[in-house]
Amino acid sequence: MKIAVIGGGYVGLVTAACFAHLGHEVSIVEVDAGKVRAINAGEPPIYEEGLEELLTAHAGKTLVAGTEYGPVADADLSFICVGTPPAGDGSADLSYITAACRSIGEALRGRTKTHTVVVKSTVPPGTTENLVVPTVGVASGRNDLGFAMNPEFLREGRAVDDFLHPDRIVIGSADPAAGNSVAAVYRGIDAPAVRTGTTAAEMIKYASNALLATKISYTNEIGNLCKRLGIDVYEVMQGVGLDKRVSPHFLNAGAGFGGSCFPKDVAALIHLAEKQGEDPVLLQSVMEVNRRQPLRMVGILKERVGDLNGKKIAVLGLAFKDGTDDIRESRAVPVIEALLEGGAAVAAYDPLAVPNMRRVFPQIEYCARAAEALAGADACLLMTEWPEFSRLDGEFDLMKSRVVIEGRRVLSCDGKEGICW
Ligand code: NAD
Repeated sequence: MKIAVIGGGYVGLVTAACFAHLGHEVSIVEVDAGKVRAINAGEPPIYEEGLEELLTAHAGKTLVAGTEYGPVADADLSFICVGTPPAGDGSADLSYITAACRSIGEALRGRTKTHTVVVKSTVPPGTTENLVVPTVGVASGRNDLGFAMNPEFLREGRAVDDFLHPDRIVIGSADPAAGNSVAAVYRGIDAPAVRTGTTAAEMIKYASNALLATKISYTNEIGNLCKRLGIDVYEVMQGVGLDKRVSPHFLNAGAGFGGSCFPKDVAALIHLAEKQGEDPVLLQSVMEVNRRQPLRMVGILKERVGDLNGKKIAVLGLAFKDGTDDIRESRAVPVIEALLEGGAAVAAYDPLAVPNMRRVFPQIEYCARAAEALAGADACLLMTEWPEFSRLDGEFDLMKSRVVIEGRRVLSCDGKEGICW
């Protein structure tokens, strides 16, 4: 099938590369000319395991990127994968969706080929029906187009594998033909399909992310209590997670959740609930636990080293999790802010995320190796679960004093202290 993917970011690029891998002819429409050049050159502008191999195999052949919407006109389907960032009030900013819909509609104007517009971005329930359908309809002047909502559940850092081996494929559509055309694109992927209307599909994505975020905040709250009681929260949650009703996933205590999805999606769900006259106390608490959790790292640090003014603090890990260079809502951000506020000198290391974090904190020192950040440091805060950190040991001897606090349970060396273990 011929597919246009609108937006070549994390979701769009992975979706496009995987659709090409499944044998489709894919065009990415991306407004950022730099990303377009990189994709066409077979160089992924983001780091994802397996993505470069897919681009090498398909870029310039069945996977082509451009800044123009022309390819939409000849495509059987277009998948909208543009961002839906948080607006100031916590709601989802749908301006990129609106702009993409207008451009898709204009590209389809005057054409007669059957076409299904699919929303893959995470959007509040009702967006496909109330925004996407009318916006594309007006811009195209057509009333024969199909519409569907197909939320994406991939995890950054494991995105290609998740896309090709999903737990389920959710397809929401008002008319079965549109849903069938989306299902046909996924032929070759072995996963149960959940067919719903568009609003239920939109809500499935929010409800899933909010539940996973809730598991994390819940585990962290239990962890904070366990630490006071001298109990190992990892032993506790292993015992809890083996219950099939619970599942062992997302029960790792630590510095909290970050990334481009959980924080903004829970905030958008809270906003949506409040607009409907609900008081979503559980979701608000999930966010509040997550706001406080990384600051516990700084609290423990102050207990251990006293006043931070003039102290050198090594921060290991900047990405919001391992396997990615994404720093959006990384728990390292509020920690570094608090360290700088306290007058500390921060020396940071991350295997992938330094260029991104440099844009947020140009004033701190970035190191090429963990050992360099640790040399002469008064303390170390570990913020990301990069596997390479588990091999660190002698490097901590380079510190002025061996105060090592981990926000992710990854270190195997002696003398470390966990945020909630
Ligand atoms: P992103 O910011 O990485 O990518 C969005 C891309 O769209 C950018 O490259 C941007 O330049 C491009 N764009 C913006 N407006 C455009 C337009 N009018 N036409 C063409 N391109 C345009 O965002 P992302 O992380 O890929 O997320 C996209 C959506 O998928 C969001 O709704 C997000 O919530 C959802 N999602 C993300 C993940 C994830 O792990 N990142 C997982 C599941 C769902």
